Amino acid sequence: MALEPERREGPPPIRFGLLYAILAAWLVLLVVDFARMQRNFEAIPYSQFITYLNQNKLAEVTVGSERIEGTLKDPAPGQKKDFLTNKVEDPTLTQALKDAKVKFTGIKDTSPLGGIFAWLLPLIVFFALFQYLSKRMGAGGGARGGGILSLGKSRAKIFVETDLRTRFDDVAGVDEAKAELKEIVEFLKDPTLYSRLGGRMPKGVLLVGPPGTGKTMIARAVAGEAGVPFFSINGSEFVELFVGLGAARVRDLFEQARGKAPCIIFIDELDALGKARGANILSGSGGDEKEQTLNQLLAEMDGFDPSKGVVLLAATNRPEVLDPALLRAGRFDRQVVFDKPDKGGRKLILEIHLKHIKFAKDVDTEILASMTTGFSGADLANLVNEAALIATRRKGDSVTLKDCTEAIERIVAGLERKNRVLSADEKRRVAYHEMGHAVVALARGAHESVHKVSVIPRGIAALGYTLRRPTEDRYMMSSQELKDKLAILLGGRASETIFLQDISTGAADDLDKATEVARAMAMRYGMSRKLGLATFEREQAPLLGGQPPMKLHEYSEETAQLIDKEVTRFLADSAQTAHELITEYRELVEEGVMILLTRETLNEEELKTLWNRYQLRPKSAEGLAS
Ligand code: ADP
Ligand code: MG
Ligand code: ZN
Repeated sequence: MALEPERREGPPPIRFGLLYAILAAWLVLLVVDFARMQRNFEAIPYSQFITYLNQNKLAEVTVGSERIEGTLKDPAPGQKKDFLTNKVEDPTLTQALKDAKVKFTGIKDTSPLGGIFAWLLPLIVFFALFQYLSKRMGAGGGARGGGILSLGKSRAKIFVETDLRTRFDDVAGVDEAKAELKEIVEFLKDPTLYSRLGGRMPKGVLLVGPPGTGKTMIARAVAGEAGVPFFSINGSEFVELFVGLGAARVRDLFEQARGKAPCIIFIDELDALGKARGANILSGSGGDEKEQTLNQLLAEMDGFDPSKGVVLLAATNRPEVLDPALLRAGRFDRQVVFDKPDKGGRKLILEIHLKHIKFAKDVDTEILASMTTGFSGADLANLVNEAALIATRRKGDSVTLKDCTEAIERIVAGLERKNRVLSADEKRRVAYHEMGHAVVALARGAHESVHKVSVIPRGIAALGYTLRRPTEDRYMMSSQELKDKLAILLGGRASETIFLQDISTGAADDLDKATEVARAMAMRYGMSRKLGLATFEREQAPLLGGQPPMKLHEYSEETAQLIDKEVTRFLADSAQTAHELITEYRELVEEGVMILLTRETLNEEELKTLWNRYQLRPKSAEGLAS
């Protein structure tokens, strides 16, 4: 749905027209020049010229370095008066002309005008083409048109919008992000407030999340709420054909922004520009350019003083590829995470977008929200738009629920597999699985609190997820903590076994991770009594070229068998623990699953509340027995 004002502007046809005009002028000159020669002169062989000379028929002659032009005294009827011949090396010519008393002069062949154009025009055409091409490769149109020769100057599409109408109310389902960004809005409204208290604003805030979750939108909303200019540029537009232009653009962007503080600089799709350096060494061209641009960005970020009221926002859906230098303290040191909206969020987003169309009474956002697990905000906007199109096509006078469900089917069919929508059965399984992780973590994890449990798919591997975050930075873990970690990892599968009497492929990733932990316990941390204190894994010196170092294994065949046994035992013990805990907290799991099936997510507080309520309750005999 086209809610936002169209902001792609700056059409290039003017420049295009100029190019054509120059070409046309050149052609006309060529034709005129050619015609002049053709019309007035008769081309004759040199021998003919000598004959005319000897017959004394010449009135006047102009000798060039390459050719000779001349006029005849009285041309025969039908014969041209002027003639032209290519010069032949002839040392006696001057003497002969003198003897014949012909009036003669010497000149340079080409006419002065033609001469200038002959070398200037191709140059101009070349520049125009160059300019046009670089624009095509780089940015497209130009908001600040640079002249033909202003190559080094940035023509980046630096959009400055001063009167943004996007507000926080237009973005729904991302309350945490909004709460974090409110502070920035306050700061922009009065930059002096913070410096007075000695506080320091973060220089850069990175918005991280899957596509279509409202990152770009919320950046605009921050500017809209604060009422400040919004400089935006897309990371992919920095990828230039010519080395150095990207860096010039970055410089220009910051320079312009500084002049308009307080304001926001927004770099969308930061990953296109901020890929880890060296990662594209093999890709050859373009690597240099990107690196220069990135370096310039880093330099600008170091140089600018946030107390002046310029806030840098950037968005990416691939934070993992960003150059670590970008994420260092003093650069993008604050991250705001966007997740796909849960059911409540989807309902709100649908309501926002439905405001703009005419819909029938039967359109129930509650129902639509429950049908669209895994949809992003953009998918939902698309859904409303699609439904409106369907209604238009069938010539209805408002959008009905049926139009909406048809639109959902269409969108689901078009989604990539990784955005798949779970069936009711799958969702139930995922809910049990994730609650399994969560309950074991709650029961065991004094060191890790559960941050969020969700049944919304996140990428191909994760159909749901349980986010745990360490309550403190951990440099060491005790053997007990590692065992707890194992139990938490295996909790998902244990829960599936207990409640669904069957296991699924969904636990493969958990098993990988658990095996890795168990192997480390046996082989590196000396935590197996049978294996003793020796470690069995050594890392080779790092290889050149950034490949991960090889692991060297030095042990006998028997030891290998023992290691396998011990790893299996660690895993089995932890699986047992997980199994017992989930059995003990069975009702808690069931309760959590009920909530997940209706609301899709459970946050930290909700889980804590559930947990505390459960602790207070007299335990049922049944729960302990089974
Ligand atoms: P991103 O930058 O995260 O990829 P956008 O901000 O460009 O996503 O969102 C694209 C469109 O999807 C928006 O213009 C808006 O119509 C819709 N949209 C996305 N997220 C939301 C949301 N949380 N609330 C309302 N609309 C949203
Ligand atoms: Mg975006
Ligand atoms: Zn799992």
